[in-house]
Amino acid sequence: DLWESRGHVRFDEVTFGYSDERTILPSFSLDIPAGQTIALVGTTGAGKSTLAKLISRFYDPSKGKVTLDGVDLRDLHPKDLRRAIVMVTQEAYLFSGTVADNIALGKPDATLEEIRAAARAVGADAFIEALPDGYNSDVNKRGGRVSAGQRQLISFARAFLADPAVLILDEATASLDIPSERLIQDALQTLLADRTAIIIAHRLSTVAIADRVLVMEHGRVIEDDAPDVL
Ligand code: ATP
Ligand code: MG
Repeated sequence: DLWESRGHVRFDEVTFGYSDERTILPSFSLDIPAGQTIALVGTTGAGKSTLAKLISRFYDPSKGKVTLDGVDLRDLHPKDLRRAIVMVTQEAYLFSGTVADNIALGKPDATLEEIRAAARAVGADAFIEALPDGYNSDVNKRGGRVSAGQRQLISFARAFLADPAVLILDEATASLDIPSERLIQDALQTLLADRTAIIIAHRLSTVAIADRVLVMEHGRVIEDDAPDVL
């Protein structure tokens, strides 16, 4: 049977650096209960993306461990890990192919109905239907080209369809126009429900919907509070 993660993430005295000369996270500990939405903020180079990459197991700690539901990530089957933890980064919003292919990326056997349901859930359905070839539109083709906000919505639909226990989102720094900002916020609310979420947040509106805000500096958490306290 498939292993189902609850989404409890823990850093247990994790030390990590990209080289032996420079430590990025020095004995870092953090407990993220299942279902919590974390906004991660802090200056550039603080280690936010590094933290996200350790949860996704792009890298392993040199000391300590990262666990999911108490299990060291290194002891999880890669297939279980990929199903349980999904990271959405700004660089990888879209791949060449159709809109439908892009949404189904994490679930290649998805039916068009499932793909459309995911798009509807995050409010991406209307603009996709309005594209020249709808869900079959090539995302890179002229005429089928989509805006930055729309690309983000498609990547949200992909994450919604994949339905991971843990979602990590490195939010785009680029400013969006007001209507897509609004759409993205509504989509985020839907996407974050019933899962653990760690958002590297650049928008105040995102920080506001988090349960907990962590401020990072030089590989450490210097503040850990509810959003209304900060
Ligand atoms: P930003 O807000 O700019 O995205 P960040 O908080 O995400 O910053 P990280 O990307 O985690 O910061 O980087 C933390 C430190 O690690 C920085 O000093 C950075 O230069 C370094 N670093 C990041 N990625 C690598 C890498 N692949 N190889 C070597 N050093 C890296
Ligand atoms: Mg970063």
